[in-house]
This record gives sequence, structure tokens and C-alpha cells, in this order.
Amino acid sequence: MAQSTLVIGAGIIGSAMAWQLAESGCTVTLVDPSDTGGAASGMSLGWTNATYENPRFYYELRRFSMERWDALKATYPDLPYRQNGTLYTSFYGTPLQTVYDEHTPWGYPMTWVSAAQMAELEPHLAVRPERGLVCPVEGHVAPHEAAIFFRGLALGAGAQFKKTRALSVLREGDKIIGVRTENENLLADTTVLAAGRHADTLARTVDVELPMTAPPGLLIHTKPAPSLINRTILTEDLHMAQWPDGTITAGGDFGGGAVNDDPDTGAQILFERLQKALSNGAALQYSHHTVGLRPTPQDGFPVIGSPLQGLYLTVMHSGATLAPAVGALATDEITTGQRHALLDPFHPNRFANTWNVECV
Ligand SMILES: Cc1cc2nc3c(=O)[nH]c(=O)nc-3n(C[C@H](O)[C@H](O)[C@H](O)COP(=O)(O)OP(=O)(O)OC[C@H]3O[C@@H](n4cnc5c(N)ncnc54)[C@H](O)[C@@H]3O)c2cc1C
Repeated sequence: MAQSTLVIGAGIIGSAMAWQLAESGCTVTLVDPSDTGGAASGMSLGWTNATYENPRFYYELRRFSMERWDALKATYPDLPYRQNGTLYTSFYGTPLQTVYDEHTPWGYPMTWVSAAQMAELEPHLAVRPERGLVCPVEGHVAPHEAAIFFRGLALGAGAQFKKTRALSVLREGDKIIGVRTENENLLADTTVLAAGRHADTLARTVDVELPMTAPPGLLIHTKPAPSLINRTILTEDLHMAQWPDGTITAGGDFGGGAVNDDPDTGAQILFERLQKALSNGAALQYSHHTVGLRPTPQDGFPVIGSPLQGLYLTVMHSGATLAPAVGALATDEITTGQRHALLDPFHPNRFANTWNVECV
């Protein structure tokens, strides 16, 4: 049923939500004090994959989303996403055989490649172990640019964008009725909190505790270079990808860690690793580093669902991978009231024992 909706946060998740809600016929107001396409979304590697931290239910959601990225790209060729595949020469301590054994029985396409085959696929990679894995269906997206793209589609479908901050969520009786912003109260049938690592602060204003962490992630960025990397490449101590403009982004770990404690030194270490990882890496020119905070629910899995009538939460790490799935499936749930099986494991009620409220 069409209804009025507020989406708080215009990163990749909120913008995908705003677009899908507007497409489905809802009235949509997207709220964010910034119009740059998100916070974490602007500091992300943007690797789309289904191998990261994966029980089967999480794999299925990620896979669904990866297929949607490909379908969206076919419809919108300007979307800043491409399915360029991944070469795994290592996977942060997990043996590649384990990655292969866990995922290929589920139908995930992964192929073993020899050092010689790696040399053909990635001729500039300097260090090649005896064998690696290639996954052709993984991809790479610029999350903040995709957020701006989705916001454009949302505005085209009738959504409004308000450049202001939500200060608190408004409740009337048992129902959430909107938010108070810096300028005004905004009212709606459903309020979606897609405010990344700040979603917990807003949820708390109506006594919904969303246990979260925000581990830092350090990335280095080079100046534009000639084409050196075709796929996303994972080595023993580095993940790296090259954007269409020639710049290379590289990081050292997926969970936050030592190189983040002193980002300047960490960035220097990462740049040295990158230079060694590529045969003509010495010619690379360093540009800058970023430290992004990953919005991460405490158990590591996304929070997607309605804890209270009129309130809907969409908060997660791996939002670059998951945005298209979340936009589509959460919109279906909001407009039909029917829960999708893929979303079931991610309901916020798994944290309900810490709340002061009656759940729906
Ligand atoms: C270093 C790093 C590497 C990553 N690598 C990957 C990867 O390879 N693959 C992957 O899938 N994911 C990756 N991620 C995670 C992914 O980038 C995030 O999950 C995703 O960007 C989250 O998007 P979001 O829209 O929820 O949050 P954000 O992009 O943080 O956007 C939240 C928005 O909410 C707004 N906001 C906050 N408070 C308020 C308020 N009170 N009122 C209104 N608006 C508000 C902010 O201004 C912001 O624009 C990485 C993240 C980092 C930091």
C-alpha cells in the first residue's frame, strides 16, 4: 500500500531505500545534513562479494544483491558499478581451500588458477603463489557515487531531499510518527533509519537499543596510474582495486586493526606493500589516505526490519554489496507488510531483550 515515508540518511543504503520506496508509489522525504553520498559510503573499498563472514543465510542475501547490481547495471549503464571479478591469492588467514569448499557447494562460481594463469589474468601482480581462486561474479562499486546516482533516481521518481539533521524520533502512543529535525518536525507513516553509525543514537531516542560498533578502516589512494589491476585482488596483507579513472585503492584488513592506530604510519606501510605487490609499483604516486568507520551491528550482521510500528531500521556493514537487495526487499516489506524470507535472520528484534518497549 502506498504510504508516506521518511528516510534518514542519504548514504548508499538510505538512497537505495528512497529510490525503491518512491518507485513503489510511496511519498518519500530523504533527510541528511550532507549531500555527498554518505559517510562510510565515501570511504569504502566497494568490493561486492559473497565470501565475507558467511553463514549460508548471509551468503544468500549477498548473492541476491550481487545479482541485482548486475541487473541494475544492465538498465543503468552509467551506474558506477562493474562486475570485474576477484582474484584471491589469500584470504586473511582463512585457507583458500576452505573458502572454496564452503561456497562452491552453494553454487558460487570459484575457479582454481595456477601461477601461470594468474600471470595472464593480472600481469602486473608481482607476487604469485602456486595457486589462487578467481570469482568472476564479484564486482566493484563506488558507494558514494552510487548513493548520489540512487538519490537522483529517487528525486526523478518524486522523492524530496531535505538537507537537515534528524535530532530525534517522534512517538505518539505505540507508534512512531516521524522525526524532529533542526528546522521542523517531519511526519510520516514509516520512518526508515539509514543513518549508518549514527542510527543507534536516533533509535535510542525512542528506547530502541541498537548495539553497534564502528571499527575504523584505513584505505590508501594513489594518483591515477596506467591500467595495472583488472580485478579486485586479495593478497596475504593487502586488498586492492583500480577505479576506472586509474586511481588505486588499497587496504590491509577488513576488521579494523593495527594499521589504523596510527593512520599516517599505517598508510605509509600500506603504500609500501602496494608498491611491492605490483611489478611496476615503484612508479605509483601516493595521493592520500582515508579512515572510515564501518557501521556494524554488534553481532556483525545487518539489522533490517521494523522494531516498532512506524519505525524501520536498515543498518549494516557490507552496505556496498547489500544496498540493492536492501532497497528492494525492505521496500517490499514496508509496502506489503510481508516479511521476505531472505530478511528474516536480520530482524532487529534479535536485540529486543535490551529494549524498554513492546515490539511489533
Ligand atoms: C574502509 C571501509 C571499507 C569498506 N569496504 C567495503 C567493501 O569492500 N564492501 C562492502 O560491501 N562494504 C564495505 N564497507 C562498508 C560499507 O561501505 C558500508 O556498509 C556502507 O557504506 C554503509 O552505508 P550507509 O548508507 O548505511 O551509511 P553511510 O554511508 O555512513 O551514510 C549514513 C548517512 O547518514 C547521515 N546521517 C547520520 N546521522 C544523521 C542524522 N541524525 N540525520 C540525518 N542524516 C544523518 C550521514 O550524514 C550519512 O550521509 C566498507 C566500509 C569502510 C569504512
